Amino acid sequence: MLKQIPYARQSISEDDIAEVVRVLRSDFLTQGPTVEAFELAVSEYCGVKYAVAVSSATAALHLACLALGLRAGDRLWTTPNTFVASANCALYCGASIDFVDIDPQTLNMSADALEARLIDAKSKGLLPSIVLPVHFAGRSAPMARFDELSRIYGFRLVEDASHALGGRYGGKKVGSCEHSSCAIFSFHAVKNVTTGEGGMVVTNDPRLADEVRRLRTHGITRDPVLMASDSDGPWYYEQVELGFNYRMTDIQAALGISQMRRLDQFMKRRNEIAAHYATRLKSLPLALPSIPEDDLCSFHLYVVRLKLSELSKTHRQVFEELRARDIYVNLHYIPVYRHPHYQKLGFKAGHCPESERYYKEAISLPVFPSLTESDQDLVVKALESVLGAGSGKA
Ligand SMILES: *Cc1c(COP(=O)(O)O)cnc(C)c1O
Repeated sequence: MLKQIPYARQSISEDDIAEVVRVLRSDFLTQGPTVEAFELAVSEYCGVKYAVAVSSATAALHLACLALGLRAGDRLWTTPNTFVASANCALYCGASIDFVDIDPQTLNMSADALEARLIDAKSKGLLPSIVLPVHFAGRSAPMARFDELSRIYGFRLVEDASHALGGRYGGKKVGSCEHSSCAIFSFHAVKNVTTGEGGMVVTNDPRLADEVRRLRTHGITRDPVLMASDSDGPWYYEQVELGFNYRMTDIQAALGISQMRRLDQFMKRRNEIAAHYATRLKSLPLALPSIPEDDLCSFHLYVVRLKLSELSKTHRQVFEELRARDIYVNLHYIPVYRHPHYQKLGFKAGHCPESERYYKEAISLPVFPSLTESDQDLVVKALESVLGAGSGKA
């Protein structure tokens, strides 16, 4: 029996472990100097002014939306081809949510579809206040186009860069926020850099950074300028708005700092794996991810689409047969609005046809830095056998 090959796996080194142990022996366990150092490491890497670490990307998305003033009566638009958290943040703020269909080549929110929807929404007085693209699989969405549209139609851009830490767009690192109000990273265990659980908001806007910092710790301030009253004494602080406990711990941040040191190595390895798949899979009945020419895709995911018309097997059969061979493939994503919670909000099947077509064909193959060449060969051989046996050309 083969060992099971997962679609994603964290890469933890002895150095990572030593850094975490060092914090466990120190004075700070919760948010302290190591969180600040982690924020600095990420902001310097991305070439962005401010970084605020929080407990998850979900928390980061929530606070970014709150800090940008999203509230009841407002609208947020995102892509259906994402994890539910990209849409839930709108609902947390009491705003309404809608989805803009994907470009079938890049699998990101389509700029053409967005423009068409904006023209229509403008005529009805229903423009969104936030558009939230996701850099799917680690390939940047077309931010320069989105930026132009944001100036014409007056919305803010929040990048869900949960897949894309380490990637580049337009000559800059993803997270530089050249074209957005802020970007969000996730440090969940399957992501490019992990802290176990964790997230971050990066931005060049000092007021947005301050607001997110305050909201992650209950809306409490010790800044006399922001207080309603004079200080009662050295113990004094004020809660000036309703915030949360969304803090990251120094234990997590220590892991994050150590992982950031290997991020470029991780990028190199993920791209090698993607290049190897591209060569080895090209004659199978699969549509492979296109590689952007100028940008660097972080290859958080490697997603192939089945050419079902060339196969005598169903999508589900292929998926199940791969899993039966211990290739633990996955599927990213069920269109968000197909979930029952979103169906209750009134979304109908067929809302974003490209996303639904994609969902019926997509399979995420294993990609992670410690995937060995021989394991990757097992994945390729399994695909050859599962698809070969079912394709007309076998
Ligand atoms: C993982 C992920 C999230 C949520 O991240 P958490 O850190 O688990 O909250 C949000 N958006 C996308 C696109 C993700 O992949």
